[in-house]
Amino acid sequence: MNYTKNTKMSKYAALRSVMKHFVAIEQEEGVGAHVRRSIGSMNMRRFPPFLMLDDFTLKPPAGFPDHPHHGQETITYTLEGMIAHEDFTGSKGVLHPGDLQFMTAGRGIVHSEIPVALENGGYTNGLQLWVDLPSKSKDCEPRYRNLRREETPEVKVNNDLKVRVISGKSYGVNSLTELAYTPINFYHFITGKKGTEFLQEFPENFNVFLYIMKGSVILNDEVFSKHCAIFFNNDGTAVSGASAADNTEFVLVGGEILDQEVVQHGPFVETSRERMMAVFKNYQYGMNGFEKAHSWSSTIARGVSEKEVKDFDN
Ligand code: MN
Repeated sequence: MNYTKNTKMSKYAALRSVMKHFVAIEQEEGVGAHVRRSIGSMNMRRFPPFLMLDDFTLKPPAGFPDHPHHGQETITYTLEGMIAHEDFTGSKGVLHPGDLQFMTAGRGIVHSEIPVALENGGYTNGLQLWVDLPSKSKDCEPRYRNLRREETPEVKVNNDLKVRVISGKSYGVNSLTELAYTPINFYHFITGKKGTEFLQEFPENFNVFLYIMKGSVILNDEVFSKHCAIFFNNDGTAVSGASAADNTEFVLVGGEILDQEVVQHGPFVETSRERMMAVFKNYQYGMNGFEKAHSWSSTIARGVSEKEVKDFDN
């Protein structure tokens, strides 16, 4: 075990060691969407409770038109551009840079996620994380919680370190709570000068990973670059390191380990083959939550402009 040298931050935090790391390779998903998938790829099938992490870059007409979900929560974090969203209950929304959406698919949802055609012609970039739902909550009512940029506190630790506390506690600052059914800690680290040190504690029963959006990070004398996903062992109470380039940005995310079977078929996630067969049936016959699955189609699937999203409810 490694012990942190920075006694100011945490006196005897035992640091987690790196279990595995790799650079997420770009692939095509949805309709012409470019995603760098780390969790949910051949390199890391799943990392309980996490089922998928995509770093997506979209420009119309690319997107994720009408598709179903069951049995997981999706967390969408918009970094650049705008994402419009519409589901079969009639709700419509738009996410701006810094906004997040926590969606609980529960027993079933059909929705569309489409980048807004921006007046400046720019693209939309963000992260989408899938979190498994505890077995007992798989059939809960679907829900959304939008977390606006201004609702996530940003801690200015020093001139070279800021942390956006999306979920959890960092440098003494707490986020809003109870955003997801499965306990999640989610932090966005933004550093200035190369060599900026950071430390983040996590509960010991959490799986923790780090994903680099910009620059590079040094952990235990090893340098990791942009688009690298780093997975930690459960052998310590904190993650600590330093930026290895100016203007580095990464997310540090932890989730309470779920000890349950995962049977996944695309966007459907269950705990047994029998339960999965029932979900297929519900979807196919439009029942048990999927009543509107086949009569509904979104208005945004073929594209949506900046002007049009101004009228969206949230
Ligand atoms: Mn979706």
